[in-house]
Amino acid sequence: SSTHFAGRKSRSAIEASRKAVSSLIGCAPSEIFFNSGATEGNNSILKCVGLGGKKPTYVICEGDHSSVYETARYMQEIGLINLVMIPLKKSGLVDVDYLIDTVTNLNRKRDGQILVSLMFVNNETGIINPVSDLSHELKKLNEDIFIHIDAVQALGKIDHQMFSDLEIDSASFSAHKIGGFKGVGCIYLKKGRNVGSLLNGGGQERSLRSGTENVPGIISFGLRAGYISKNRDWMSSTHHHYHILQNGLEKLGKVEIHGDPEFSSRNTINFHIPGMGLDLLNMRLDMVDIAVSNGSACSSGVAMASRTLVSMGYGDFVSKNSIRVSLGPETCLDDVNLFTDTLSKIIG
Ligand code: PLP
Repeated sequence: SSTHFAGRKSRSAIEASRKAVSSLIGCAPSEIFFNSGATEGNNSILKCVGLGGKKPTYVICEGDHSSVYETARYMQEIGLINLVMIPLKKSGLVDVDYLIDTVTNLNRKRDGQILVSLMFVNNETGIINPVSDLSHELKKLNEDIFIHIDAVQALGKIDHQMFSDLEIDSASFSAHKIGGFKGVGCIYLKKGRNVGSLLNGGGQERSLRSGTENVPGIISFGLRAGYISKNRDWMSSTHHHYHILQNGLEKLGKVEIHGDPEFSSRNTINFHIPGMGLDLLNMRLDMVDIAVSNGSACSSGVAMASRTLVSMGYGDFVSKNSIRVSLGPETCLDDVNLFTDTLSKIIG
């Protein structure tokens, strides 16, 4: 933050990144606040939104990432908020009717303010929720409903028009989901919305997020955002490979894919093989250098049931023994073929 030549150089690099990221998201540079990523972003919004008056009600979804889910549960436990959970449907989509009915009833009671947090793309299934339509419907009910979007898995992965159509108050992002460094991200905060700061101190990021900026990380975010803005089709090979993978899995017969592929972001596929536990699957895939995740990688290590799959109606075995395969622009056809061939040998 120093005003000498070196400080100015960092400042101008940060501002160039802010411009690049805002242009990818489709907002004003002043609406972007850099931070350490979406865990911090979701915590900042949920903990600091400061909905005054009576105890507010937060409406979140059962399949939300733990940075939303655990934060909201913590706030409920210490008595700061009322919490309502919205289930998912078998398709993997948020139960839209349930959500609208719930918020309509809450709004009718006028018992404290309402925050709705929605996940744009589910990190475990890749299912894209209709957040644009939902945001308009919710705002029609009451403009004061605060709408937050966990947009981590959507940035650069879905049609950018879907971002410009949103009517939301805030959103959180992580740079590493578009190839930037890990440990950096940002929140979008709509102009005129005031949110308190999670971290107080030196007043960086217009006092919303104190702490010396992660300049290399922010630059990496800006560079990747600029690249994707200029190469909107950067995921096209991924989409192509997704369809090949989906067909390959369907041909194997014994595989059950979770979530309706019609709503897929086409870079993530989640499935299980009836009766087959993860230990064998993981070991055999690892032997040929294929890295896949089990449910939510963010809570790796322990075989926990996936909240997303439980909410979609799957039982204990499936929610603990499903794998998530993620494809990226570096994934090639040979990788996809190696994967389906290995799986075919495992299934026998
Ligand atoms: N939200 C979603 C949907 C995610 O997939 C992740 C991480 O992958 C996060 C939030 C948290 O992001 P980070 O770990 O970068 O803080």
